[in-house]
Amino acid sequence: MNDLRPVPAADMHAPSPAPEAALVRAYVGLGANLGEPVAQLNGALAALAALPATRVAGVSSLYRSAPVGYLDQPDFYNAVAALDTALSPQALLAALLDIERRGGRERAFRNAPRTIDLDLLLYGAQTVSEPGLTVPHPRLGQRAFVVQPLAELAPQCVVPGAGEVRTLLAAVAAQPIERIGALQPPA
Ligand code: AMP
Repeated sequence: MNDLRPVPAADMHAPSPAPEAALVRAYVGLGANLGEPVAQLNGALAALAALPATRVAGVSSLYRSAPVGYLDQPDFYNAVAALDTALSPQALLAALLDIERRGGRERAFRNAPRTIDLDLLLYGAQTVSEPGLTVPHPRLGQRAFVVQPLAELAPQCVVPGAGEVRTLLAAVAAQPIERIGALQPPA
């Protein structure tokens, strides 16, 4: 309902709306299976918290799952973080790739072991389809290690084109995944 009452003079000089108003809720998938995966995920979480115009709004539990695709490699550790950010999707992806680079990730081959993998899963209700960036992440609904932590964090969050996150759980229910603890939330 519109409020048409006149604005009291004192309120006219109130500070402009908090910059919070421009923030978008984005979800980032974190994964690692080489070196010290849990330490690397905590490091990546701290790096996300240190991004400009961004705060970590929530973090899922930590999950462990067997590799898919290339099987001769250690188990994966995964989690999902919710970010409130004023960065554009492109700037956020560039920041994620930079954190991966600093984490020493090497792209040897598809589904290869990795020290740290960061995926931009969702950026508000927006869709992006351009060279180098697709949002929602194209494989979001296919992997239990993404759907499970995302559903824990935001079961009613709507994935454009796919519906509420919790409705995606059934499709990945056969993939074994174990909830093993929590990451260290950045201070
Ligand atoms: P991967 O190594 O499988 O995580 O793929 C990384 C590449 O996928 C990057 O070079 C990105 O440009 C591209 N990419 C496209 N869409 C996304 C997304 N939503 N999140 C992360 N990377 C993406």
